Amino acid sequence: MPVRHCLVTGANRGLGLEFVRQCLARGDRVVAACRHPGKASALNQLAGLNPGRLRMLPLDVTDPKSHAELARELDLLGEEGEPYRLDLLINNAGVLHSGERFGRVSAANLEDSFRTNAMGPFLLTQALSEKLTDGATVANITSELGSIAGLGRFGTPSYNISKAALNMATALLAKALADRKIAVVALHPGWAQTDMGGDQATLPVADSVKGLLQLIDGLKPAQSGGYFDWRGERLPW
Ligand code: NDP
Repeated sequence: MPVRHCLVTGANRGLGLEFVRQCLARGDRVVAACRHPGKASALNQLAGLNPGRLRMLPLDVTDPKSHAELARELDLLGEEGEPYRLDLLINNAGVLHSGERFGRVSAANLEDSFRTNAMGPFLLTQALSEKLTDGATVANITSELGSIAGLGRFGTPSYNISKAALNMATALLAKALADRKIAVVALHPGWAQTDMGGDQATLPVADSVKGLLQLIDGLKPAQSGGYFDWRGERLPW
């Protein structure tokens, strides 16, 4: 099997860093995109352990100019004069503004959440679409909190709204890329033990990412445009 090329956003910590670790461990070539590669000590360590297989590139997912710059940098990574080809794009970067109360939800939180969690993945996928191989996968890391059908309490509205928008972006991208057999899915990672997940989180990041990569590897064309959790269960929109 030819070497897989993966790109992970928000790769410097949390689930993104674990995606990088597990993709490297199975032999993939990985581009780890994050806001400040120079400060990403865990990634720099991994790069030292995996010479030639891990590249770190700067990316702010909220900034379309940063997407274009990343695309230009990827063009330089093509092997033996061939254009750079991407087999797996993991739109993982995300933000959660906690402590929101009805009556006090701010435009700033809503805007930042939308730009990071929905606009970013949609526009980045668009910007990199020409580099995706036929049959590639785009994994949008969403949340069960983006499910309208599964809505519980009034908890984190900026986050819920932005992840629901990401779910719609996933369905639209699946349609746009279907003729190239590119699968686009919305994936909930579970309540994972990261900075965002917080102290009460129950799921080790390694288990979450292992489950998500298994699901991605086994995706069938009919599952493109779907919404799944880390165990492969379909979630209600
Ligand atoms: P973390 O808060 O641990 O990490 C978030 C990552 O996103 C960091 O690398 C952060 O970079 C990056 N990021 C945020 N904003 C930007 C930006 N504008 N440009 C580039 N990178 C950015 O979160 P998790 O690892 O837990 O979350 C990963 C994904 O999983 C998110 O999409 C999240 O919504 C989703 N998720 C997580 C759950 C959980 O329980 N942990 C549950 C459900 C969904 P920096 O260090 O520069 O801030």
